[in-house]
Amino acid sequence: MRAAAALLWWGLALPAAAQTLAESWFAAATAGPPACAGHGRRVHAGFERAGLAACRIDADGHVHVTIRPENQPINPSPWYGLVLANDGGGETAVTLHYDGGTHRYAPWTGQPGRPAARLAPQLVSLSEGGRAARMLLPAAPVQLLMAQPPETIEDAMAPFEARVRAGSLVRTIVGHSVARRPLLAYWHRPPAPRGTVVLITRQHPPETTGPQAFARFTDLLLADSAAARAFRAGHALMIVPLANPDGFVLGHWRHNLGGVDLNRDWGPFTQPETHALGQAIEKAAKTAPIVAVIDFHSTARDVVYAPPRPAAPDLGEAMLQAIAADLDGASIRIDRAHNPGSGVLKSWARDRFGVGALTWEVGDASPTDRTARLAEAAATALMASANARGQ
Ligand SMILES: [Zn+2]
Repeated sequence: MRAAAALLWWGLALPAAAQTLAESWFAAATAGPPACAGHGRRVHAGFERAGLAACRIDADGHVHVTIRPENQPINPSPWYGLVLANDGGGETAVTLHYDGGTHRYAPWTGQPGRPAARLAPQLVSLSEGGRAARMLLPAAPVQLLMAQPPETIEDAMAPFEARVRAGSLVRTIVGHSVARRPLLAYWHRPPAPRGTVVLITRQHPPETTGPQAFARFTDLLLADSAAARAFRAGHALMIVPLANPDGFVLGHWRHNLGGVDLNRDWGPFTQPETHALGQAIEKAAKTAPIVAVIDFHSTARDVVYAPPRPAAPDLGEAMLQAIAADLDGASIRIDRAHNPGSGVLKSWARDRFGVGALTWEVGDASPTDRTARLAEAAATALMASANARGQ
């Protein structure tokens, strides 16, 4: 009964596309030379979102993996991802050794054709103050070990691509990453918009709960409800599901391929990603003024970074009040620090357009049903407030 309930909970927690990796995915992931091999085991890291710096295998089959950031200094969100092949049968002990940072993300495992699942917490033990994490992987010929549920670029784009096919969104390539990956924006453009709302996520590659809030939030704005239809009649939408595609594919902790934290580069615009996205926002503002910018992230706990309280209530303030009221202000922190010139998207948008721009940080372990409810409260408040202004 408990197992069934847990399965249901996790089943609801994830987009369906992220749950199961096919036999063919594992075949491709293990096709190249391994990062290390020995004693019946091979460790592979030649696949999208793999993350390990080095590995070795003890005579007893214990796998040691070194996890290292793409460059330093860096705000620590240590990503890891590997595929373990085991010809000999039996469980495998894996120890992640963090070279910079400490263990943050509870591991996920996946086997061919089976839903990815969190490794049971009792199979994970930390030492050296979190700089080493030892885990026991089940006996399996091949399995994935990853810091978050497996997810590809296609998975991240799938809900928006479906709407492009249905004709309700238009996709444009607004620029390219350092490695020339396309930066995609999805647009809703009514004939005579009063304003543009910008929704963006995944400046930081490992973050997963923030993108889940983003997905639910955008879903509601694009829904077939009366409020959403009224909102869309008066407002353009710019939706960016993956602001840092290189970092996402390469298993980065935080930065783009230029070694820069993109959310410290709004203003300087030294990187192609922020430059292109900034230009696209500026261009959108010429058609209809930017009225809200929401940038979805994840961190240790729920916090929303907001501008100082505005003289007249704006759309950002309406969303903030809905979020705070939903939880009675008890367990979510609202931080009104404004740091002009910090290179944070929220601060740049506030200074550039004078709008309620939010950085919405969802806790790494925040329950998905609660995150979904907060996203619903905020989206509902945004639409109600925006629709009221149009009357
Ligand atoms: Zn972030």
